[in-house]
Amino acid sequence: MIILIGPQGSGKGTQAKLLVEDYGATHLSTGEMLRESKDPNVHAKLERGELFADDEITAVLKEALQRYSNKERIILDGYPRTLKQAESLGDLADIEKVIYLTVSYKDAVERLLNRGRSDDTKEAIESRLKQYNELTEPVIDYYRRQNKLLEVNGIGSVDEVYARIKKVIPWQ
Ligand code: AMP
Repeated sequence: MIILIGPQGSGKGTQAKLLVEDYGATHLSTGEMLRESKDPNVHAKLERGELFADDEITAVLKEALQRYSNKERIILDGYPRTLKQAESLGDLADIEKVIYLTVSYKDAVERLLNRGRSDDTKEAIESRLKQYNELTEPVIDYYRRQNKLLEVNGIGSVDEVYARIKKVIPWQ
């Protein structure tokens, strides 16, 4: 499993789709799993830009992972977002590398406002990026200490960023 990590608006979803085509990988996104839910409470929470509880989202991911063997190539996007989630993931899957897409705060906000998803209001975006700084930055340090972190500059065209990812990804 390879994890794609970076703030919302760093282009994780777009890059994951390209990796799926080139490497025959499966893209798993916890955000997508939640958006597919039929529960109105889940949607209300998504619109507010609130993070789901660690146990709740870990249960969703665990259930999804049961459909894949350890040998399959998986690109995970949107998880882990907290240290607690990172620790849980260590028990659920073998993590090969973590690709960290770096973009500035300003670029991330601009991209999110442009993609126009219904949860992309200015307030929700600011709330999510603030949570990202507080909760997800420690996850990045956690993987850096494990020598699993590959930093990739996320600024540029989709193709430019993708070429940088291909250079560092440990897949043939
Ligand atoms: P994303 O598609 O990754 O931008 O996620 C969309 C929304 O789903 C987030 O703003 C959170 O509300 C929720 N979400 C997705 N993944 C997680 C996670 N790992 N932990 C908590 N909430 C999550």
